Amino acid sequence: MTQASIPAPLSPDELGPETQPVAYEASDGVAYVSLNRPEFRNAQNSVMTYSLDAAFVKAVEDASVKVIVLRAKGKHFSAGHDIGTPERDFHVRYENKASLHWDHVDRTGGDQRLARELEVYMGMCRRWREIPKPVIAQVHGACIAGGLMLAWICDFIVASDDAFFSDPVVRMGIPGVEYFAHAFVLGPRRAKEILYTGERFTASQAQDWGMVNHVVPREELEQKVADIAAKICEMPQLGLSLTKKAVNISEDQMGLRNAMDSVFGWHHFAHSANAEASDGDSLGGMDARSMRDSASKKKE
Ligand code: ZN
Repeated sequence: MTQASIPAPLSPDELGPETQPVAYEASDGVAYVSLNRPEFRNAQNSVMTYSLDAAFVKAVEDASVKVIVLRAKGKHFSAGHDIGTPERDFHVRYENKASLHWDHVDRTGGDQRLARELEVYMGMCRRWREIPKPVIAQVHGACIAGGLMLAWICDFIVASDDAFFSDPVVRMGIPGVEYFAHAFVLGPRRAKEILYTGERFTASQAQDWGMVNHVVPREELEQKVADIAAKICEMPQLGLSLTKKAVNISEDQMGLRNAMDSVFGWHHFAHSANAEASDGDSLGGMDARSMRDSASKKKE
């Protein structure tokens, strides 16, 4: 796909119940923001990231919205960051929303990786974590790597019993996805095990470990989230916003923010080490170009 044919991110005015790659609807004080790129298991390209941001802006600006639900259409919540679909758009310039760092597009090597990930991954996740309204993650199916980042920026997670999670990026030599909350949301020992093995963990394991608040049958998921959202809607909006801030401040005082900044450096060392070892491929043989090259070699 050429750069020119990649669509622009949706604006708040364009978002609707069926729009792609993000859908939006609001009723009874609740905004439902849905990842809607099901044919690619909701892999996140930048069109999705910035459309998601537009949806969150719309929900924040709408005074009638008190609670936001982040959910997904299709079989899975999210397969992670888009590293291989035809619409992978890492080379396209987007307006920097999360940082005032320079843009990545006309940069090369580590400069490009750092600029891009500061903005699109770490920066956007932090921006969304600070949304001044409660955000509930409604998770079903796969929630992998970059999918975890989206679930983790929400205030809490409600999952169906078919949900499963993993962060397998250690296979690429990388110590976890960019938004390194692993040790905080899973506990240090379990974080190490799931990272070391790359194995999936289930919704009920995630609940036992404190990462997920509720696990319900798939057919009850929507109603469970709606019931919780309705209770939250009875609270005053400013009180909710201040409470969110209080808990986020506490989490940061426990070290979340500093740990994440520090690990982000090791994360980028891993990208650089991969790039040095394999002709610029920062994902250790798994970026789109490498996969294409190895597929064409197999055909020969
Ligand atoms: Zn990265």
